[in-house]
Amino acid sequence: MNGAPAHDLLIVGGGLVGASLAIALAGRGLRIGLIDAHPPGDPGQPAYDDRAIALAQGSCRIFEAMDVWAEMADSAEPICEIHVSERGRFGFTHLLAKEECVSALGYVATARELGRVLLGALRATECVEWIAPAQVVAMRIEADRACITVEQDGRRSELEAALLVAADGGRSFVREALGLPVVKRGYGQSAVITNVTPERPHRNVAFERFTEEGPIALLPMTGGRCAVVWTVLDTKVDSVLALDDAAFLAAFQKHFGHRLGRFLHVGRRNAYPLKLLRVREAVCGRVVLIGNAAHTLHPIAGQGFNLGLRDVAALAELVLGARGRGEDIGGDTVLVGYEAWRQDEQRKVAEATDGLVHLFTNPLPPLRLARNLGMLALDLFTPARHVLARTAMGLHGRLPRLARGLLPR
Ligand SMILES: Cc1cc2nc3c(=O)[nH]c(=O)nc-3n(C[C@H](O)[C@H](O)[C@H](O)COP(=O)(O)OP(=O)(O)OC[C@H]3O[C@@H](n4cnc5c(N)ncnc54)[C@H](O)[C@@H]3O)c2cc1C
Repeated sequence: MNGAPAHDLLIVGGGLVGASLAIALAGRGLRIGLIDAHPPGDPGQPAYDDRAIALAQGSCRIFEAMDVWAEMADSAEPICEIHVSERGRFGFTHLLAKEECVSALGYVATARELGRVLLGALRATECVEWIAPAQVVAMRIEADRACITVEQDGRRSELEAALLVAADGGRSFVREALGLPVVKRGYGQSAVITNVTPERPHRNVAFERFTEEGPIALLPMTGGRCAVVWTVLDTKVDSVLALDDAAFLAAFQKHFGHRLGRFLHVGRRNAYPLKLLRVREAVCGRVVLIGNAAHTLHPIAGQGFNLGLRDVAALAELVLGARGRGEDIGGDTVLVGYEAWRQDEQRKVAEATDGLVHLFTNPLPPLRLARNLGMLALDLFTPARHVLARTAMGLHGRLPRLARGLLPR
């Protein structure tokens, strides 16, 4: 047997999820390596692009406990109301922050801004070793360690750790190398994202509007702008992206309607193909998968990163707990504990998101009537709305200590 591995923990992927885990664990006596294909602060890093992320209230609490929220909050806009409706139908429901006795149901910030704050916090700590730009190209698991091969400037070297965390996104190399079975579905849809400036103030309302082609989200942003997530059929996405500003605004207005008056300005457009992907088991040997590597969701309900951040909070708690008891952090206690804690929520959120996509794109008249009556009933029935709001805020179920504002022990 070789000596102890050089790292306690290696995180593959320094996107929003991997970087968050590194911060959650930094300064607690662990030797952590964070590997990413992009150098830190690279403006072309796609994980930190201009997409708007709706952070649930629970996620803000996690970031607060990690001491990064105050800086994030400067460029985040609160969501005080969520308005859900279907284009051309009578049913709607809305969730209100004041009904839940919170100042905001969540906040909206760009991935770029969140990334800037996370990288700033990582730079300020000396406890995380950045290994970047570096590509993980091979891996193997041994009894007491996980070993990976990284390629940097055409040279290969091997790194090893007691625990390997895969936060390497939807096309996870680690997941593929382990051959983990997945549930996978394409939607034939892409999300076109941009921001628009409406004629009327957004009043911190987030709109979720369902159309036969797919859902549209309009989220309040700073500076009076709104972030747009417009689901478009794959067959139409190129023609939507080719529209000039005026034609895009007219097409979007037609889909969204006039609740905020006319849309006056529009920013740059980008498109993301949408799919559902979920691993059946997120642990294997000395490896744990978190974030998009474990579950990539349709952005309809804005749950992808929020779910990933709850993975981070749960894993940090289990790793630090095992460490505190002098146990192996890559051993069964952490892996089995993680799977038992996270699997159920990951499956439920993935299935609920997928169900929502199908429910609202089904044009059958009885179904359409049922879902509109359902929304109306929900709007009138406060306890059910309360459960929905707590779930949307990421405050339902077993909460990790970080989500309760406490540091993991
Ligand atoms: C249009 C859109 C809107 C969204 N809106 C919301 C929202 O409102 N709320 C919400 O909660 N979520 C939202 N999401 C989901 C959210 O963006 C993702 O869940 C989140 O960004 C995933 O982060 P991650 O760190 O898991 O993965 P990624 O961002 O994919 O990061 C993976 C990292 O791993 C690195 N990497 C990959 N392979 C290797 C390798 N072999 N070697 C080294 N490094 C590697 C990559 O360079 C990258 O930095 C949205 C998604 C989309 C597409």
